[in-house]
Amino acid sequence: PAQMCEEFKTLMQWADQRRDMTVLANAETPEDVRRALSLGAEGVGLCRTEHMFFDADRIVAVRQMILAEDNEVRTDALNKLLPMQRQDFTEILEVMQGRPVTIRLLDPPLHEFLPHEQHEFEAVARSAGVSVDVLKARADASREANPMLGLRGCRVGIVYPEIYRMQTQAIVLAAVDVARKSDKVVCVHVMVPFVSSVDELEIVRREIDNVASTILSSSENEEVAHLVQYTVGTMIELPRAALTAGEIARQASFFSFGTNDLTQTTLGMSRDDAGSFLQNYLKSGVIDRDPFVSLDIEGVGMLVELAAKEGRKTRKDLKLCLCGEQGADKDTVVFAQKIGLDAVSCSPFFVPVARLAAAQAAIVQQEIRDDATSGGASTGSM
Ligand code: PEP
Ligand code: MG
Repeated sequence: PAQMCEEFKTLMQWADQRRDMTVLANAETPEDVRRALSLGAEGVGLCRTEHMFFDADRIVAVRQMILAEDNEVRTDALNKLLPMQRQDFTEILEVMQGRPVTIRLLDPPLHEFLPHEQHEFEAVARSAGVSVDVLKARADASREANPMLGLRGCRVGIVYPEIYRMQTQAIVLAAVDVARKSDKVVCVHVMVPFVSSVDELEIVRREIDNVASTILSSSENEEVAHLVQYTVGTMIELPRAALTAGEIARQASFFSFGTNDLTQTTLGMSRDDAGSFLQNYLKSGVIDRDPFVSLDIEGVGMLVELAAKEGRKTRKDLKLCLCGEQGADKDTVVFAQKIGLDAVSCSPFFVPVARLAAAQAAIVQQEIRDDATSGGASTGSM
Protein backbone atom coordinates (compact mmCIF):
# COMPACT_ATOMS: atom_id res chain seq x y z
CA PRO A 1 0.00 0.00 0.00
CA ALA A 2 2.86 2.42 0.77
CA GLN A 3 4.31 1.81 -2.71
CA MET A 4 0.89 2.28 -4.28
CA CYS A 5 0.57 5.52 -2.39
CA GLU A 6 3.90 6.70 -3.77
CA GLU A 7 2.91 5.69 -7.30
CA PHE A 8 -0.38 7.50 -6.92
CA LYS A 9 1.45 10.61 -5.76
CA THR A 10 3.79 10.44 -8.75
CA LEU A 11 0.87 10.03 -11.13
CA MET A 12 -0.88 13.04 -9.61
CA GLN A 13 2.33 15.08 -9.87
CA TRP A 14 2.51 14.28 -13.57
CA ALA A 15 -1.12 15.30 -13.93
CA ASP A 16 -0.46 18.58 -12.14
CA GLN A 17 2.49 19.32 -14.40
CA ARG A 18 0.32 18.90 -17.46
CA ARG A 19 -2.87 20.64 -16.45
CA ASP A 20 -3.39 24.37 -16.55
CA MET A 21 -6.87 24.61 -15.08
CA THR A 22 -7.09 25.16 -11.33
CA VAL A 23 -8.85 22.46 -9.31
CA LEU A 24 -10.85 23.67 -6.34
CA ALA A 25 -13.18 21.93 -3.91
CA ASN A 26 -16.78 22.30 -2.87
CA ALA A 27 -16.34 22.17 0.89
CA GLU A 28 -18.11 23.73 3.83
CA THR A 29 -16.70 22.30 7.05
CA PRO A 30 -13.13 22.39 8.37
CA GLU A 31 -13.01 18.56 7.98
CA ASP A 32 -14.12 18.80 4.35
CA VAL A 33 -11.63 21.54 3.68
CA ARG A 34 -8.79 19.57 5.27
CA ARG A 35 -9.70 16.52 3.20
CA ALA A 36 -9.88 18.63 0.03
CA LEU A 37 -6.46 20.07 0.74
CA SER A 38 -4.91 16.65 1.32
CA LEU A 39 -6.41 15.46 -1.97
CA GLY A 40 -4.77 18.34 -3.82
CA ALA A 41 -7.41 21.09 -3.97
CA GLU A 42 -5.86 24.50 -4.54
CA GLY A 43 -8.62 26.37 -2.80
CA VAL A 44 -12.32 26.26 -2.01
CA GLY A 45 -14.43 27.03 -5.08
CA LEU A 46 -17.75 26.74 -3.33
CA CYS A 47 -18.40 26.96 0.39
CA ARG A 48 -22.16 26.53 0.74
CA THR A 49 -23.35 28.21 3.92
CA GLU A 50 -26.82 26.73 4.38
CA HIS A 51 -25.80 23.56 6.18
CA MET A 52 -24.17 25.66 8.86
CA PHE A 53 -27.61 26.89 9.83
CA PHE A 54 -29.08 23.50 10.64
CA ASP A 55 -26.99 22.85 13.77
CA ALA A 56 -29.15 22.23 16.83
CA ASP A 57 -27.80 25.33 18.57
CA ARG A 58 -28.57 27.56 15.59
CA ILE A 59 -31.77 26.42 13.98
CA VAL A 60 -34.00 28.14 16.56
CA ALA A 61 -32.30 31.47 15.88
CA VAL A 62 -32.55 30.84 12.12
CA ARG A 63 -36.27 30.17 12.43
CA GLN A 64 -36.65 33.25 14.59
CA MET A 65 -34.86 35.27 11.90
CA ILE A 66 -37.16 33.97 9.17
CA LEU A 67 -40.45 34.17 11.04
CA ALA A 68 -39.83 37.47 12.81
CA GLU A 69 -42.19 40.25 11.81
CA ASP A 70 -40.44 43.08 13.57
CA ASN A 71 -36.87 44.12 13.07
CA GLU A 72 -35.89 43.89 16.71
CA VAL A 73 -36.70 40.17 16.88
CA ARG A 74 -34.84 39.55 13.62
CA THR A 75 -31.84 41.58 14.76
CA ASP A 76 -31.76 39.63 18.01
CA ALA A 77 -31.60 36.36 16.01
CA LEU A 78 -28.91 37.69 13.69
CA ASN A 79 -26.83 38.85 16.65
CA LYS A 80 -26.90 35.29 17.96
CA LEU A 81 -25.84 33.87 14.59
CA LEU A 82 -23.06 36.32 13.74
CA PRO A 83 -20.37 35.01 16.14
CA MET A 84 -21.10 31.43 15.08
CA GLN A 85 -20.77 32.25 11.37
CA ARG A 86 -17.61 34.22 12.08
CA GLN A 87 -16.16 31.16 13.79
CA ASP A 88 -17.22 28.89 10.86
CA PHE A 89 -15.36 31.04 8.35
CA THR A 90 -12.37 31.61 10.61
CA GLU A 91 -11.78 27.86 10.87
CA ILE A 92 -12.04 27.36 7.11
CA LEU A 93 -9.77 30.30 6.27
CA GLU A 94 -7.24 29.09 8.82
CA VAL A 95 -7.08 25.65 7.26
CA MET A 96 -6.67 27.13 3.78
CA GLN A 97 -3.70 29.34 4.81
CA GLY A 98 -4.10 32.06 2.23
CA ARG A 99 -5.43 29.88 -0.57
CA PRO A 100 -8.55 31.35 -2.17
CA VAL A 101 -11.89 30.57 -0.53
CA THR A 102 -15.17 31.35 -2.26
CA ILE A 103 -18.03 31.66 0.20
CA ARG A 104 -21.55 31.64 -1.14
CA LEU A 105 -24.21 33.65 0.64
CA LEU A 106 -27.37 31.85 1.74
CA ASP A 107 -29.06 30.11 -1.18
CA PRO A 108 -31.81 27.59 -0.41
CA PRO A 109 -35.51 28.35 -0.21
CA LEU A 110 -36.19 29.71 3.25
CA HIS A 111 -39.01 27.23 3.72
CA GLU A 112 -36.37 24.51 4.20
CA PHE A 113 -35.67 25.99 7.62
CA LEU A 114 -39.29 26.28 8.75
CA PRO A 115 -40.40 24.35 11.83
CA HIS A 116 -42.82 21.43 11.42
CA GLU A 117 -43.31 19.83 14.83
CA GLN A 118 -45.14 21.41 17.74
CA HIS A 119 -42.01 21.37 19.94
CA GLU A 120 -40.05 23.15 17.18
CA PHE A 121 -42.65 25.93 17.06
CA GLU A 122 -42.59 26.13 20.85
CA ALA A 123 -38.80 26.61 20.91
CA VAL A 124 -39.05 29.50 18.45
CA ALA A 125 -42.02 30.98 20.33
CA ARG A 126 -39.98 31.03 23.55
CA SER A 127 -36.99 32.56 21.86
CA ALA A 128 -38.90 35.18 19.85
CA GLY A 129 -41.56 36.01 22.46
CA VAL A 130 -44.39 35.31 19.99
CA SER A 131 -47.25 32.82 20.32
CA VAL A 132 -47.13 29.43 18.60
CA ASP A 133 -50.34 30.23 16.71
CA VAL A 134 -48.87 33.40 15.26
CA LEU A 135 -45.73 31.54 14.20
CA LYS A 136 -47.75 28.76 12.58
CA ALA A 137 -49.77 31.29 10.62
CA ARG A 138 -46.56 32.97 9.41
CA ALA A 139 -44.98 29.66 8.50
CA ASP A 140 -48.09 28.66 6.50
CA ALA A 141 -48.11 31.99 4.72
CA SER A 142 -44.48 31.59 3.67
CA ARG A 143 -44.76 28.07 2.24
CA GLU A 144 -44.39 27.95 -1.53
CA ALA A 145 -45.68 25.48 -4.11
CA ASN A 146 -42.42 25.66 -6.07
CA PRO A 147 -39.74 26.66 -3.55
CA MET A 148 -36.82 25.90 -5.88
CA LEU A 149 -38.17 28.71 -8.07
CA GLY A 150 -39.23 30.86 -5.16
CA LEU A 151 -37.70 32.87 -2.37
CA ARG A 152 -34.14 31.58 -2.65
CA GLY A 153 -30.68 32.78 -3.63
CA CYS A 154 -30.14 36.51 -3.94
CA ARG A 155 -33.88 37.01 -3.59
CA VAL A 156 -33.42 36.19 0.09
CA GLY A 157 -30.66 38.78 0.29
CA ILE A 158 -32.85 41.40 -1.35
CA VAL A 159 -36.02 40.71 0.63
CA TYR A 160 -34.08 40.32 3.90
CA PRO A 161 -30.90 42.38 3.39
CA GLU A 162 -29.92 41.91 7.03
CA ILE A 163 -29.27 38.19 6.44
CA TYR A 164 -26.62 38.82 3.76
CA ARG A 165 -25.29 41.72 5.83
CA MET A 166 -24.73 39.40 8.77
CA GLN A 167 -23.01 36.82 6.57
CA THR A 168 -20.78 39.42 4.93
CA GLN A 169 -19.83 40.79 8.33
CA ALA A 170 -18.95 37.26 9.46
CA ILE A 171 -16.83 36.67 6.34
CA VAL A 172 -14.89 39.92 6.53
CA LEU A 173 -14.42 39.76 10.31
CA ALA A 174 -13.14 36.19 9.96
CA ALA A 175 -10.74 37.27 7.22
CA VAL A 176 -9.47 40.09 9.46
CA ASP A 177 -9.04 37.68 12.40
CA VAL A 178 -7.05 35.21 10.30
CA ALA A 179 -4.95 37.93 8.65
CA ARG A 180 -4.11 39.39 12.04
CA LYS A 181 -3.16 36.04 13.53
CA SER A 182 -1.14 34.78 10.57
CA ASP A 183 0.19 38.13 9.34
CA LYS A 184 -0.40 36.78 5.84
CA VAL A 185 -2.74 37.63 2.98
CA VAL A 186 -6.23 36.15 3.25
CA CYS A 187 -8.06 35.70 -0.02
CA VAL A 188 -11.82 35.51 0.18
CA HIS A 189 -14.41 35.70 -2.58
CA VAL A 190 -18.03 36.45 -1.75
CA MET A 191 -20.44 34.73 -4.11
CA VAL A 192 -24.04 35.66 -4.77
CA PRO A 193 -26.35 32.80 -5.79
CA PHE A 194 -29.32 32.50 -8.15
CA VAL A 195 -28.87 35.85 -9.83
CA SER A 196 -30.95 36.46 -12.95
CA SER A 197 -30.24 40.12 -13.63
CA VAL A 198 -27.45 42.65 -13.19
CA ASP A 199 -29.84 44.77 -11.10
CA GLU A 200 -30.13 42.06 -8.47
CA LEU A 201 -26.38 41.69 -8.31
CA GLU A 202 -25.89 45.45 -8.11
CA ILE A 203 -28.24 45.73 -5.11
CA VAL A 204 -26.57 42.90 -3.23
CA ARG A 205 -23.07 43.97 -4.17
CA ARG A 206 -23.63 47.48 -2.84
CA GLU A 207 -24.57 46.01 0.55
CA ILE A 208 -21.56 43.69 0.56
CA ASP A 209 -19.19 46.54 -0.31
CA ASN A 210 -20.70 48.78 2.36
CA VAL A 211 -20.33 46.17 5.07
CA ALA A 212 -16.81 45.23 3.99
CA SER A 213 -15.52 48.77 3.70
CA THR A 214 -16.97 49.73 7.11
CA ILE A 215 -15.06 46.88 8.73
CA LEU A 216 -11.86 47.30 6.74
CA SER A 217 -11.66 51.06 7.18
CA SER A 218 -12.25 51.03 10.94
CA SER A 219 -9.30 52.25 12.98
CA GLU A 220 -8.94 48.98 14.88
CA ASN A 221 -8.36 47.07 11.61
CA GLU A 222 -6.14 49.68 10.02
CA GLU A 223 -2.94 47.69 10.18
CA VAL A 224 -4.36 44.41 8.78
CA ALA A 225 -6.84 45.69 6.19
CA HIS A 226 -4.24 45.50 3.41
CA LEU A 227 -3.88 41.75 4.06
CA VAL A 228 -7.55 41.07 3.35
CA GLN A 229 -8.24 40.55 -0.33
CA TYR A 230 -11.91 40.21 -1.10
CA THR A 231 -13.84 40.20 -4.33
CA VAL A 232 -17.51 39.82 -5.18
CA GLY A 233 -18.85 37.57 -7.90
CA THR A 234 -21.85 35.55 -8.85
CA MET A 235 -23.15 32.12 -9.68
CA ILE A 236 -24.38 31.79 -13.24
CA GLU A 237 -27.08 29.18 -12.82
CA LEU A 238 -30.11 30.56 -14.58
CA PRO A 239 -30.53 30.83 -18.36
CA ARG A 240 -31.32 34.52 -18.06
CA ALA A 241 -28.06 35.12 -16.23
CA ALA A 242 -26.13 33.30 -18.94
CA LEU A 243 -27.89 35.26 -21.69
CA THR A 244 -27.20 38.61 -20.03
CA ALA A 245 -23.74 37.71 -18.75
CA GLY A 246 -22.16 40.67 -20.52
CA GLU A 247 -24.16 43.04 -18.32
CA ILE A 248 -23.80 40.96 -15.19
CA ALA A 249 -20.01 41.03 -15.55
CA ARG A 250 -20.13 44.78 -14.89
CA GLN A 251 -20.86 43.92 -11.26
CA ALA A 252 -18.88 40.70 -10.91
CA SER A 253 -15.18 39.91 -10.52
CA PHE A 254 -15.88 36.26 -11.20
CA PHE A 255 -18.53 33.84 -12.44
CA SER A 256 -19.04 30.36 -11.13
CA PHE A 257 -21.24 28.21 -13.29
CA GLY A 258 -23.78 26.41 -11.10
CA THR A 259 -24.45 23.70 -13.60
CA ASN A 260 -26.78 21.78 -11.27
CA ASP A 261 -29.34 24.56 -11.33
CA LEU A 262 -28.45 25.63 -14.84
CA THR A 263 -29.19 22.10 -16.06
CA GLN A 264 -32.40 21.97 -14.08
CA THR A 265 -33.66 25.30 -15.38
CA THR A 266 -32.46 24.92 -18.97
CA LEU A 267 -33.80 21.41 -19.48
CA GLY A 268 -36.84 21.98 -17.26
CA MET A 269 -35.81 18.81 -15.44
CA SER A 270 -35.90 18.44 -11.66
CA ARG A 271 -32.52 17.76 -10.05
CA ASP A 272 -34.23 16.35 -6.96
CA ASP A 273 -36.29 13.54 -8.51
CA ALA A 274 -33.67 10.89 -9.17
CA GLY A 275 -36.27 8.20 -9.83
CA SER A 276 -38.00 10.28 -12.45
CA PHE A 277 -38.43 9.65 -16.18
CA LEU A 278 -34.70 10.32 -16.55
CA GLN A 279 -33.96 6.68 -15.64
CA ASN A 280 -36.38 5.55 -18.30
CA TYR A 281 -34.79 7.91 -20.83
CA LEU A 282 -31.34 6.58 -20.02
CA LYS A 283 -32.43 2.93 -20.19
CA SER A 284 -34.30 3.32 -23.44
CA GLY A 285 -31.55 5.42 -25.00
CA VAL A 286 -33.53 8.64 -25.52
CA ILE A 287 -30.53 10.29 -23.92
CA ASP A 288 -27.11 8.73 -23.54
CA ARG A 289 -25.92 10.39 -20.35
CA ASP A 290 -27.27 11.89 -17.17
CA PRO A 291 -26.98 15.67 -17.67
CA PHE A 292 -26.58 16.15 -13.91
CA VAL A 293 -23.45 13.99 -13.99
CA SER A 294 -21.94 14.92 -17.36
CA LEU A 295 -22.70 18.35 -18.76
CA ASP A 296 -25.22 18.58 -21.58
CA ILE A 297 -22.65 20.21 -23.82
CA GLU A 298 -24.96 20.79 -26.80
CA GLY A 299 -27.53 22.70 -24.71
CA VAL A 300 -26.42 23.82 -21.26
CA GLY A 301 -22.85 24.01 -22.53
CA MET A 302 -23.89 26.57 -25.14
CA LEU A 303 -25.16 28.83 -22.38
CA VAL A 304 -21.95 28.40 -20.40
CA GLU A 305 -19.83 29.18 -23.45
CA LEU A 306 -21.91 32.21 -24.37
CA ALA A 307 -21.79 33.57 -20.82
CA ALA A 308 -18.02 33.04 -20.62
CA LYS A 309 -17.49 34.86 -23.90
CA GLU A 310 -19.87 37.76 -23.18
CA GLY A 311 -18.61 38.09 -19.60
CA ARG A 312 -15.02 38.39 -20.76
CA LYS A 313 -15.98 40.95 -23.41
CA THR A 314 -17.09 43.20 -20.57
CA ARG A 315 -14.28 42.28 -18.19
CA LYS A 316 -11.15 40.81 -19.65
CA ASP A 317 -9.86 39.48 -16.35
CA LEU A 318 -13.18 37.90 -15.31
CA LYS A 319 -12.39 34.66 -13.48
CA LEU A 320 -14.46 31.68 -14.59
CA CYS A 321 -15.14 28.48 -12.68
CA LEU A 322 -17.60 25.59 -12.98
CA CYS A 323 -18.81 24.29 -9.62
CA GLY A 324 -21.74 21.98 -10.35
CA GLU A 325 -21.48 18.22 -9.79
CA GLN A 326 -20.28 17.83 -13.39
CA GLY A 327 -17.01 19.51 -12.35
CA ALA A 328 -15.24 16.17 -11.96
CA ASP A 329 -16.59 14.60 -15.15
CA LYS A 330 -13.90 14.12 -17.79
CA ASP A 331 -15.92 15.33 -20.80
CA THR A 332 -17.15 18.34 -18.85
CA VAL A 333 -13.60 19.25 -17.83
CA VAL A 334 -12.36 18.90 -21.43
CA PHE A 335 -15.18 21.24 -22.48
CA ALA A 336 -14.35 23.68 -19.66
CA GLN A 337 -10.74 23.79 -20.86
CA LYS A 338 -11.80 24.28 -24.47
CA ILE A 339 -13.94 27.32 -23.71
CA GLY A 340 -11.26 28.87 -21.49
CA LEU A 341 -12.56 28.43 -17.96
CA ASP A 342 -9.93 29.02 -15.27
CA ALA A 343 -11.10 26.42 -12.78
CA VAL A 344 -13.40 23.58 -11.86
CA SER A 345 -14.62 22.91 -8.35
CA CYS A 346 -15.96 19.58 -7.11
CA SER A 347 -16.53 17.48 -3.97
CA PRO A 348 -13.31 16.74 -2.05
CA PHE A 349 -13.24 13.03 -2.93
CA PHE A 350 -13.45 13.89 -6.63
CA VAL A 351 -10.54 16.34 -6.55
CA PRO A 352 -7.98 13.73 -7.77
CA VAL A 353 -10.38 12.75 -10.57
CA ALA A 354 -10.68 16.39 -11.60
CA ARG A 355 -6.88 16.81 -11.51
CA LEU A 356 -6.49 13.87 -13.88
CA ALA A 357 -9.33 15.11 -16.08
CA ALA A 358 -7.76 18.58 -16.23
CA ALA A 359 -4.45 17.05 -17.32
CA GLN A 360 -6.22 15.06 -19.99
CA ALA A 361 -8.08 18.18 -21.09
CA ALA A 362 -4.80 20.06 -21.49
CA ILE A 363 -3.32 17.19 -23.50
CA VAL A 364 -6.40 16.99 -25.76
CA GLN A 365 -6.20 20.73 -26.36
CA GLN A 366 -2.50 20.57 -27.13
CA GLU A 367 -3.13 17.75 -29.64
CA ILE A 368 -5.81 19.82 -31.35
CA ARG A 369 -3.41 22.77 -31.54
CA ASP A 370 -0.61 20.57 -32.90
CA ASP A 371 -2.97 19.11 -35.52
CA ALA A 372 -4.04 22.58 -36.55
CA THR A 373 -0.42 23.74 -36.80
CA SER A 374 0.74 20.77 -38.84
CA GLY A 375 -2.43 21.00 -41.00
CA GLY A 376 -1.73 24.70 -41.47
CA ALA A 377 1.90 24.00 -42.39
CA SER A 378 0.99 21.40 -44.97
CA THR A 379 -1.65 23.70 -46.44
CA GLY A 380 0.93 26.48 -46.49
CA SER A 381 3.46 24.33 -48.34
CA MET A 382 1.03 23.34 -51.02
C1 PEP B 1 -25.32 24.51 -8.76
O1 PEP B 1 -26.48 24.88 -8.85
O2 PEP B 1 -24.70 23.93 -9.68
C2 PEP B 1 -24.56 24.71 -7.51
C3 PEP B 1 -23.27 24.45 -7.45
O3 PEP B 1 -25.25 25.14 -6.43
P1 PEP B 1 -26.19 24.18 -5.56
O4 PEP B 1 -25.91 22.77 -5.98
O5 PEP B 1 -25.85 24.44 -4.14
O6 PEP B 1 -27.56 24.66 -5.93
MG1 MG C 1 -27.35 26.20 -7.42
